[in-house]
Amino acid sequence: MNEKDIQAITELLATPKKIAIIPHRSPDGDAMGSTLGLYHFLVKLNHQPVVIAPNDFPEFLAWLPASETVLVYENDRANCTKILNDAELVFTLDFNALHRTGEMEQVLNKLTVPMIMIDHHQLPDSYATFTYSDTSFGSTCEMIYNFIVLLNQKSLIDKTIATCLYTGILTDSGGFRFPKTTGTTHRIVAEFIELGVENTEIPNLLFDNNSYERLQLLGRALQNMKVFFDKKTSYISLSQKELDEFNYVKGDTEGIVNYGLTIKGIVFTAIFIEHRDENIVKISFRSQGDFDVNQFAREHFNGGGHINAAGGKSNDSLANTIKKFEQIVSKITI
Ligand code: 5GP
Ligand code: MN
Repeated sequence: MNEKDIQAITELLATPKKIAIIPHRSPDGDAMGSTLGLYHFLVKLNHQPVVIAPNDFPEFLAWLPASETVLVYENDRANCTKILNDAELVFTLDFNALHRTGEMEQVLNKLTVPMIMIDHHQLPDSYATFTYSDTSFGSTCEMIYNFIVLLNQKSLIDKTIATCLYTGILTDSGGFRFPKTTGTTHRIVAEFIELGVENTEIPNLLFDNNSYERLQLLGRALQNMKVFFDKKTSYISLSQKELDEFNYVKGDTEGIVNYGLTIKGIVFTAIFIEHRDENIVKISFRSQGDFDVNQFAREHFNGGGHINAAGGKSNDSLANTIKKFEQIVSKITI
């Protein structure tokens, strides 16, 4: 983001506007934290912002301040389309291509008002009027902090804004341990704690709210894990039948993929989850070190993401998708 862009955005934000803020489909802590953090900031600047999520966000994020104001496109298409069409400015956060919003893409594609992308994924598309894209950041929330600083408005960051941004920094860094966590990340978090952010309570709200069924589902997932030590690879699968058995609700499979990397010597892992209603197998990939799962997901499974965390999907059956994965893994060096 150069001086000229900052100047132009400052001018756009100088008069009150109707602003739509969009996270990616199946929003995570960073997507919801960044959109709601920006929402509270824009309210303080006298704008009329609204966060429109493409589909529902998980229950474990429903405590985020103003999450009750978030509209869900797939639950209320007519109203959301109207709000998008009336918006004078659109922010798209934590994603790099409009197709990451699912069905909402068709509406977003037709908009002619300025769009601002703030995102840390690789290879951003060029749909936005202003693109603040930087893969060196561990989270979009950290970029929103920087964005506010670039606009010379740091003094507006209060406990509420900081709470939202802290959430995304915490979740996207795996609890401050992924490689993009820097001294600056910790300094920002230190400022947030000094603003009153509840740094003990928030991890409780995010991580210590398992249902009994969710833990049982995790148990099944761990039992389903396959390990190829010679390939430093593991994977987990969950069928729709298994999800049903444990009364799966959105968010229950969040984070399970990471267990595959906790085995000594494993640097590449995946989880395959069957979604029969959408007729797809949703896949998450994780790696440690140099193995690039973004490239792997793009090349083989219609996806993308970051070097060490990516996702993708398959329209084939669960069994065939796994077979394809095993075949690819058997042929490559990891
Ligand atoms: P997760 O596995 O947690 O769903 O996603 C890991 C990372 O990969 C996130 O940054 C997410 O935005 C990205 N990602 C997940 N699924 C897809 C996908 O289907 N396409 C692309 N391009 N990125 C994805
Ligand atoms: Mn993110």
